[in-house]
Formats: sequence, structure tokens, C-alpha cells
Amino acid sequence: MSTFRTLDDLGDVSGKVALVRVDLNLPMRDGDVTDATRIRAAAPTIRDLTEKGAKVLLLAHFGRPKGERSSTMSLSMVVGAVEKVIGKEVMFVPEIAGDVVKQAVGILRPGDVAILENSRFWKGEEKNDPEFARAIAANGDFYVNDAFSAAHRAHATTEGLARLLPAYAGRSMQAELEALDKALGNPEKPVAAIVGGAKVSSKLDVLKHLVSQVDHLIIGGGMANTFLAAKGVDVGKSLCEHDLTDTANEILETADKAGCTVHLPYDVVVAKEFASNPASLRTCNVHEVAADEMILDVGPAAVEALGDVLKTCRTLVWNGPMGAFETEPFDAATVALARIAAALSKEGTLISVAGGGDTVAALNHAGVAEDFSYISTAGGAFLEWMEGKELPGVAALAK
Ligand code: ADP
Ligand code: MG
Repeated sequence: MSTFRTLDDLGDVSGKVALVRVDLNLPMRDGDVTDATRIRAAAPTIRDLTEKGAKVLLLAHFGRPKGERSSTMSLSMVVGAVEKVIGKEVMFVPEIAGDVVKQAVGILRPGDVAILENSRFWKGEEKNDPEFARAIAANGDFYVNDAFSAAHRAHATTEGLARLLPAYAGRSMQAELEALDKALGNPEKPVAAIVGGAKVSSKLDVLKHLVSQVDHLIIGGGMANTFLAAKGVDVGKSLCEHDLTDTANEILETADKAGCTVHLPYDVVVAKEFASNPASLRTCNVHEVAADEMILDVGPAAVEALGDVLKTCRTLVWNGPMGAFETEPFDAATVALARIAAALSKEGTLISVAGGGDTVAALNHAGVAEDFSYISTAGGAFLEWMEGKELPGVAALAK
């Protein structure tokens, strides 16, 4: 069914060496891991391979050491956190290739796990140097990529290795690819996309791609202001990219030709100052925004209408909050729409896939992240996928 090999396609790997690319770029404070989400995401793959008796060598990058060793960016710092999540002792190997790794492999027993040093300590990683990749591959029998979040980069450990060894998608990668395929690759129609966030400029390619893919494009957040301005609406002091109004109009035209209905808010929440519950807070029609006011959220009437649109859809893909959700009450539209999407997903009428750093934070804030069909925590890779780009790390896994 799938176009890539998964761990289900592995034969007998007992005693074989698995080179497993995972995401261990963990948030840390004072030498401690503050959020183990990414380790938990990698755990099913690690467990699966150790249960099959493979020797598991974890590959990952951490921070941006730019091709040089750095004591503050050594992956030795995450060993304890990984041990805690997988409930197993983990060996640390201060190299990524060569004799030191070879000796480590000799010491490891089937089912054991080791972490190799930060791949970005070597210049060959980001250059995707075939020589570097070959040196890493020399110590492994097969390659597993479980780091969708790094799949938009063609680096030695995300792409090069897949060309040198039998390559498989790990469990997290597999889940991500299957969810994304359901959302945009092969979705049940009608499909809606919600795109919000601060700026049009950061998501131009996303918008351009989506208009040819979805039946309904819901635009909110700061970027809606640019579209409203393009339509001749005076958006006052709102965040707005006036230099992009032509581009916005082109996108609206393309959408029209493709049969994609674009939804812009017709009521909005405005204020004269950007603060929590400001005295100047009011809700108005988009045509009534005063020169000294800012649009900070989509209005309740628009939210209700958008909820009705979602009720007619089978699939939703969401990136970007509807308003400045970090500050109350400008979280209202995002929270309300998130709850509608979550309820429809729970009922089973909507497949909902969301991604993006702030989007995930907003859905957690709304308390509905669990009810979405799938939440992607891969920021850059998720956006590039929404742009319709082929991700090199994924392409390299193709059968
Ligand atoms: P993501 O990280 O999910 O891709 P973005 O980074 O594109 O999302 O956008 C999130 C940011 O957009 C939030 O910080 C939010 O406050 C801001 N934002 C949303 N709507 C507005 C608005 N009307 N005015 C100003 N900022 C906004
Ligand atoms: Mg963001």
C-alpha cells in the first residue's frame, strides 16, 4: 500500500546493526531535557528494533555547531533522558563513524542501544558528503529514518544514508506520512484548509499550493489583513503587508479559477492597543475598522460561519492561529474553531491534521490537541509539505 518500506518489511535482523535517524534536538535548560516529546516519538521504533534483536545506533543532530565539535552541544547530554523514556541502558559513542563506532558495535549485544555523537559536528552532514555518509554506513547493516522533522533537509544522516543502505521508515515517520497523505495526498473530499499566523510572506508558497488542492481555504490571523486590504478594506493599524496586495489578489484569482472558495472574516475583534483585555476592545464589521485600530482576531459571526463550512467537509488541514492567541481575548476564534474541528473529528466526520509551532501551542491552549486526528510537531518539514514540495528525506525512502 505504502510507497516506502516500513519496519514491517524487515526480515530477520537479529544481531544486525540498525542506523536509526531520530529527532533528539531537544529543548534543554541547565543541562536538563525540559520536554521529552521527541524521545517518546522515537521510542516505538527503538523498541520495535530492540525487540527484533537489532543493535540500535541512534543518529541525530543537536543545535547548530556548524561542522565543529562543541562541548555544549554533545548528544551525551541527552543519554539519561533517552534511558528514562525507553527504560533501557544506553551507551554513548563520542564519534559517528570509524573504529570507535566499530568497537562499540562489537561491545553491544543484540537489543542494545547506543547514541552516536551529534551529526552536525562534521561538515559532511549538512553538505550531504557521500564520503561522510559512506563512513557512517560502513558500521551499519540497514538504515531507518524516524525523523520527519528533519526530512526537508538533504543531509548525510537524513538522505545520503538512505541511498547506501536498505532504508526503512520508522514508526513515527510512517504515522506522519500516512496522516499527511490522508490530509492532502489522497484526502476524502471536500477538503478545507485553515491558514493563519502573522504574515502572508512566510506562507506564500503554502497558499499558492493549497488553492489548487482544497475546496475551502479559510484565511485568518494577521495574513487575513493583507487579503482584506487587497480587496480594498481599510485595516487601520493592523499588521498588514501592503506590498503584497497584488500577490494576494493573484492568489484569490487562482483560487477562483480552481474552484476553491476563499473565506475571509467579515467581522473582526479590534483594539487600539495590543494588550490583554484592553479598554478599547470591540467587535465590528471589517468595513468599520477605525484608522487607529488593529485587527487582532476573527469575529464570532465569522467563526460560526466557518464552523458551518467545516461541518460540510471531510478533511481539514490547519496551520496558523486565527488571531494573536497568546493574549486574551484574542484567542477566542482559534479556540472556538479548534473546538468545532475537534468535536467533528471525535464524531468521526472529519479527518483533521494540524501542524506548526504556534498552531500546536494554540491547540494545546484550546485543550483539544488529543481530539485531532493527527498533530505534526515538525515545523519546517510540515510547512514544506504544505507547500507541496517533495521532502528529500522522504523521497529517499521511496521503494
Ligand atoms: P505557526 O508557528 O503555527 O506556523 P505562525 O508562526 O505563522 O504560526 O503565526 C503565529 C503568530 O501569528 C502568533 O504569534 C500570533 O500571535 C500571530 N498572529 C495571529 N493573528 C494575528 C493578528 N491579527 N495580528 C498580529 N499577529 C497575529
Ligand atoms: Mg511560528
